[in-house]
Amino acid sequence: MKKHNFFAGPSIMPDFTIQNTAEAIKDFGGMGLSIMEISHRSKEFVAVMDEARQGFKDLLNIPAGYEVVFLGGGASLQFAMVPFNIMKKKAAYLNTGSWASKAIKEAKFFGEVDVVGSSQDQNFNYIPEYTIPEDADYFHITTNNTIYGTEIREDIKSPVPLVADMSSDIFSRPMDVSRYGIIYGGAQKNLAPSGVTFVIIKEELLGKVDRHIPTMLDYRTHIKKESMFNTPPVVPVFAAVQTLRWLKQNGGVEAMEKINIEKANLLYEEIERNKLFKPTVTKAKDRSLMNVCFVMNETYSELEKPFLEFATSRGMMGIKGHRDVGGFRASLYNAMPRESVEALMDCMKEFEQNH
Ligand SMILES: *Cc1c(COP(=O)(O)O)cnc(C)c1O
Repeated sequence: MKKHNFFAGPSIMPDFTIQNTAEAIKDFGGMGLSIMEISHRSKEFVAVMDEARQGFKDLLNIPAGYEVVFLGGGASLQFAMVPFNIMKKKAAYLNTGSWASKAIKEAKFFGEVDVVGSSQDQNFNYIPEYTIPEDADYFHITTNNTIYGTEIREDIKSPVPLVADMSSDIFSRPMDVSRYGIIYGGAQKNLAPSGVTFVIIKEELLGKVDRHIPTMLDYRTHIKKESMFNTPPVVPVFAAVQTLRWLKQNGGVEAMEKINIEKANLLYEEIERNKLFKPTVTKAKDRSLMNVCFVMNETYSELEKPFLEFATSRGMMGIKGHRDVGGFRASLYNAMPRESVEALMDCMKEFEQNH
């Protein structure tokens, strides 16, 4: 039976990425060696790293003055690295969920944190209003809240450098990188297997803090050494390059946005139409294109487990909602074909008819 992969992360990847990575694990570029057993300083791997950096710049139209680095440690390490490198005194944060809360917790180790808006009162099911203080060193947002299914889909104008955790919506739409100071994310949602973290940095922000920064935690180290200061996660970087190629071959982020809007609209419409279900994010403009969260309508709450079992029996994988939200979450990242969304909708319709 065909499996439809709705996992939130690690999550679906293009076949192109999986096939080419599997091949390179056996024989990398005809070298007769696995990519896992050659030096990261070989010219063959240096070319992969160069292509990763250039692929980001091309696909996201990254302007001059920005650099791209690939690190370990996940988005979670960036929660600390960002304030370590650029927080002088005070930073503003928008609290849109547990990832944002974790970022806030780390920033507090480095200075004053002004939480300018929070949607915690309603279990983070909306994007709160906020005003950005002009005296903050930067303003931090989480563009896509993977757990709750909310998303900030515009490149907001900020009077202070804008820092964004884009772990789960990078490459889902065209964006204006010039509006941001730092963009970071773990690769494992929309790009590559886990193990590599991307950071896009406006270089002029660096070198302005008084504190000593340990070498490995200083962005300047990795910019200067082109992400080769220490051994990078070679296989995830290789896989990321395959996804970047796949994105280019498939019309880039403009094409992705178009398909992503189509896929998400189809599913949200079915959730609204179907008497058994309702979306958890009530305001349509706050709804994520990447993670569609929904629950059973109150009168049918006892059908939650049976629906999960039914959908699983039809090949729907990973649709159980995060424990903080309950219900269901269908993640519709770039690599997910429209047919999988339709297959899930068919399940929902059939289950409705049976009840
Ligand atoms: C998954 C996720 C993280 C955590 O990423 P790690 O790479 O596991 O540290 C952080 N932020 C967002 C928005 C995420 O979706």
